[in-house]
Amino acid sequence: MTNHPVASEQASTAFRSALDVVRQVEPRIADAIGAEIADQRASLKLIASENYASPAVMLAMGNWLTDKYAEGTVGRRFYAGCRSVDTIESVAAEHARAVFGAPHAYVQPHSGIDANLVAFWAVLAQRVESPALARAGVRHVNDLSEEDWAQLRRALGDQRMLGMSLDAGGHLTHGFRPNISGKMFEQRSYGTDPETGLLDYDAVRAAAREFRPLVLVAGYSAYPRRVNFRIMREIADEVGATLMVDMAHFAGLVAGKVLTGDFDPVPHAGVVTTTTHKSLRGPRGGMVLCHEDLAEHVDRGCPMVLGGPLPHMMAAKAVALAEARQPAFGDYAQRVVDNARALAEGLLHRGASLVTGGTDNHLVLLDVQGYGLTGRQAEAALLDAGIVTNRNAVPRDPNGAWYTSGVRLGTPALTTRGLGGAEMDEIAELIDTVLRATSPSGTGAGGPSKARYAIAAGVAAKVAERAAELLDRHPLYPGVDLS
Ligand code: PLP
Repeated sequence: MTNHPVASEQASTAFRSALDVVRQVEPRIADAIGAEIADQRASLKLIASENYASPAVMLAMGNWLTDKYAEGTVGRRFYAGCRSVDTIESVAAEHARAVFGAPHAYVQPHSGIDANLVAFWAVLAQRVESPALARAGVRHVNDLSEEDWAQLRRALGDQRMLGMSLDAGGHLTHGFRPNISGKMFEQRSYGTDPETGLLDYDAVRAAAREFRPLVLVAGYSAYPRRVNFRIMREIADEVGATLMVDMAHFAGLVAGKVLTGDFDPVPHAGVVTTTTHKSLRGPRGGMVLCHEDLAEHVDRGCPMVLGGPLPHMMAAKAVALAEARQPAFGDYAQRVVDNARALAEGLLHRGASLVTGGTDNHLVLLDVQGYGLTGRQAEAALLDAGIVTNRNAVPRDPNGAWYTSGVRLGTPALTTRGLGGAEMDEIAELIDTVLRATSPSGTGAGGPSKARYAIAAGVAAKVAERAAELLDRHPLYPGVDLS
């Protein structure tokens, strides 16, 4: 049984009618939308950052709200006629505050990257505004001239960010070169312990003492363990940094009260950012949570770094957050973690190697070097067998960020679909079977190819058949019939 609170025949009628209307204008798009649900129904989705939003979330975003401009914030808009958008943004923020126990919520960011950019800007603006601004006799950061800025930057010293390294599971937006954060800040990374693969808080503390960052970033895309945010906050305080937690991946586990106490970022961080579409199971989008001291700066996200808000997406966020407040969401979040543990145990039991030796969140990082493969070969072979994953670097990865040596596996989507622990063990067997039957083939520049591979005859088809049987037991959007 799917874990969505609503999966009704009404949703079926609504989606069918919507596609009929789209088809009248551009049939190829209607067909592609129909093909997408067919593909999703047929694939064993283990992508840790994906989920299946409920019909209520989807239907809230496909409507006339998309037509409205509403720059500004609730009650302080730069456009007239924002009554409904004010309601929508207020309700979404109210749910966000309640779900996460946060004093302030800003629900406008269009994505996780945008949420991080809003947070970086807010922290910088707050720092600039404090004593240095007063000394300069300026009331507000927006009133600064270029020369004021240059002076203030010198007064503040270099803007530095300390975040988790990419190969330990950090994210590009945590100060890395290909992202604007890498241009805004001088960045240094902390990694994980070479023996255990676990976050080494003493090493983070030592790096922070030496580097003295303005922002200490915690949070990850591919670290399979909980992070102790109380300790991270102590480290930030010791060096005068703001602790920013990017909980994009595990927001659903925080909302579902699986991550509490030291592992809940909200009471400990100066600012928390998230996406809304991963374990939180909402629409694609972002959000920033903070205390009142930062609220004014965070609320300037638009127009500082964002365009006009997307009212239809804020509506869908409000619906998803309302769902996250229901007790069933707590059960869901717990099952996500139980399933990840069952998957990890199933893989370990079959001799696989996992980064950190297991998991206590929603994801498992499988090191495929023991199978003699690169992450890219493993990802492609699994896809041939109907298992959708994504390759991911492992700590100190010899194959770099493109080919990698790992595959990241996550359980939020399949848990929404209703799969449980016994099925996770079956999936572990399918993954192990495919990878054991796969070998590198051909040569690339300077040695064996890191991309090409061969699977022993018949294995992919057989596994795909077993994966399809598993999925048949748990239909996706069971009430929704587009035929
Ligand atoms: N932060 C983290 C930790 C992420 O994993 C991601 C997405 O993968 C993002 C931010 C960016 O989110 P988006 O793709 O919505 O911009």
